[in-house]
Amino acid sequence: MRLDIPTLAVVTVFVTALLGGLLLFAGTQNRAMRAPTVWGLSFLLGATGLGLVIVRDRVPDWLSIECANALVLAGMSLIWTGARLFDRRTVRLAHIVAVPTLWFAACLLPVVGRDINARTMLCSVLAATLSVLTARELWRGRGEPLLSRWPTVLTLLGYATAMLARIPATVLMPQIATSTDVLGSALFPALAFGTLMFTIILAFLLLNMSKERTELQHKMASLVDPLSGVANRRAFLAGAEQIGAQTSAGERLGVMLFDLDHFKAINDANGHATGDAVIKLFAREAARTLGHGALFGRIGGEEFGALMRVGDGGDVIDVAQRIRLTFAAAAARSGLGVLSTVSIGVAIADDAGDDIEDLLAAADRALYRAKANGRNRVEYAGAPNPEPAASVGRDGFIGPERRAVGA
Ligand code: GH3
Ligand code: MG
Ligand code: MG
Repeated sequence: MRLDIPTLAVVTVFVTALLGGLLLFAGTQNRAMRAPTVWGLSFLLGATGLGLVIVRDRVPDWLSIECANALVLAGMSLIWTGARLFDRRTVRLAHIVAVPTLWFAACLLPVVGRDINARTMLCSVLAATLSVLTARELWRGRGEPLLSRWPTVLTLLGYATAMLARIPATVLMPQIATSTDVLGSALFPALAFGTLMFTIILAFLLLNMSKERTELQHKMASLVDPLSGVANRRAFLAGAEQIGAQTSAGERLGVMLFDLDHFKAINDANGHATGDAVIKLFAREAARTLGHGALFGRIGGEEFGALMRVGDGGDVIDVAQRIRLTFAAAAARSGLGVLSTVSIGVAIADDAGDDIEDLLAAADRALYRAKANGRNRVEYAGAPNPEPAASVGRDGFIGPERRAVGA
């Protein structure tokens, strides 16, 4: 099969422009995300550059060589810039103009300006560099779980490799590049076809990455409490069910329910904004004390829950006691002008089969007792089937046997 090169080149120009338009359209869907718009512009610049290459016979050389390649390189610089924007990194004008400027400057040197092989090699190195920089940028953001990130990085590295492979090809077979009819040279079909494939795959992956980002943001918004930044009720209960289902024999779960004391009075005396600040403070202190191993969430106005795997019951009570004390201390030195405390109900599963709902209900009963027994204290309900509650009061001792808990 013979590829009709001029047709392929024209198709590449129009497909690139069309993909640029689609990316621009995607940019209008989510205005908070600017990267698709920048990528759309980059594809349009690239299409313009490629368009100037294919009308080489009809326009001056400086337009179809220097300017055309500068536009393609500016387009690739914008892809890199878009990747930086996508991962919320700073962007400077230099990121966009440095490589095209370097290209123009090099073309002023006779050794480059008058030698098509030198120009081909320089252009390849610059395009490969921009591809690697973009791949590196996206790889740095790999902490965000976007599936399309990895094929995008691989595609960009593949393109950089193909560009660099042009250098030995140009050195070994200079007659190919110096062919008077560039469109007819043997290298061009492969180049044009490869460019077309790369353009389509890259645009698809960039669009998909943007779509995945939007979906992830929506998912996060539905699972994270906007005030405190911790899991909301829905996420906490779903997480608790999941952990409950995954708990194996020999593992035990501990639940803590927290309710800030006299919170209405704090709101009334200091205003709602101060109340909000106290909620945020509690969430921060509790999350810090719990660490990454525990599930923690805001399950109501000033009510929070935590779930953790335990070795023995003492662990959970110790942690609850630490949260109670660190929160009271943090509130006192916060400068908010409030002395806020928390009451905590603790329940621990007897065995892995205990229902999460029963465990939460037991912790709730213990919390109720903490309120009834004077607040600013930890009450322990034991297993979901309620035993006489033990209490851990302000003095840091657990009753009824008054066991010290190292508050
Ligand atoms: P208790 O010690 O018995 O818990 O007394 P309390 O005043 O804390 O009583 P309760 O737990 O019933 O009060 C909850 C209050 O929390 C009622 C509501 O005005 C307030 N609240 C709920 N959500 C928010 C919020 O997002 N911000 C602020 N500032 N206040 C809230
Ligand atoms: Mg409450
Ligand atoms: Mg309360």
